Amino acid sequence: MKAIIWGSCGSLPSPTSSATIRQKVKDAIWASRELEFASIEAVDAYLETLPHSAHGTYKANTTCVQIEAGTKEHIIRDARTGLRDFSLSLGKNAPPATYHIFVSHLHWDHIQGFPFFAPAYQSGNRIIFHGFHQTTESAIRAQMDAPCFPVPYEAMQAEIEFDIQEDGAHFAVGDVHVATIKQQHPGDSWGYSFEQGEKRIIFSSDSEHGPEAREEGYPFVDFLHEADILIFDGQYTSEEASEEKRNWGHSDHMTAVELAARAKVRQLIVSHHEPAYSDPKIEEIHQGALRYCKEYNQELSQGNPATRFPEHIKVAFDGLVIEA
Ligand SMILES: [Zn+2]
Ligand SMILES: [Zn+2]
Repeated sequence: MKAIIWGSCGSLPSPTSSATIRQKVKDAIWASRELEFASIEAVDAYLETLPHSAHGTYKANTTCVQIEAGTKEHIIRDARTGLRDFSLSLGKNAPPATYHIFVSHLHWDHIQGFPFFAPAYQSGNRIIFHGFHQTTESAIRAQMDAPCFPVPYEAMQAEIEFDIQEDGAHFAVGDVHVATIKQQHPGDSWGYSFEQGEKRIIFSSDSEHGPEAREEGYPFVDFLHEADILIFDGQYTSEEASEEKRNWGHSDHMTAVELAARAKVRQLIVSHHEPAYSDPKIEEIHQGALRYCKEYNQELSQGNPATRFPEHIKVAFDGLVIEA
């Protein structure tokens, strides 16, 4: 089972500007001025030696993750703008298929990719929205109403269904079992755990964790327990999350490390990036998370380094593929 990140930015799409791309190219060329490249592969190898922020970006589309589990039917978490790139990856002649879209909540950044989801316009396809908000169907339809969008919802030829459940419900797609947890966010949101055999991938974004997260018996520690991959909301720095942006419904990289360590998560992926942060700033947050992971584990295990979790910490970017 693997997670494919099609979008990693929070709140609104935030593509890199021309000026920033030019600066990155200029810096990379200047840094290589003493080198000689005999092949294009050698250029690639050189770029690999640079930090991701120097040759790529961490944020473009808003968050959308595909869970690739070898099932006949597709599994997607949230219908944000990354959904469009997922649909482009299917190619023009994709055979009719069923798409399960698990919705965390209905804030616009989480549904705005759906009007651009090509399979929705093709008859023979089936799309099932799973979630907990009673207003899911009306929100999906309303964003396509005039004057907001030129194509009405009724133009979509696929069979579209809404599977709206009460809190605590479980779902299944083939042999993938889907458990959920209610999260603290304005208007509520839900985190999803996708489990197949012994592997488990959890996506928990748009979720705020206050001081209560440090208490014994905090339910998220149980929910995340021994996950192979945890894709987590690290939108803010810990200062912002605990002061200026308290109650905005998001979390920070230090809380991500603490919960992942206590729950013995194997790989932590920090996602739902703050659109105002630059790529180097997101890299600083990554370094901060790595440092804090070391310190926090020492505290947690009272100096016994053998019990360090999470084993790996990465930062999400569009195109990142993580094997469970
Ligand atoms: Zn969001
Ligand atoms: Zn939200």
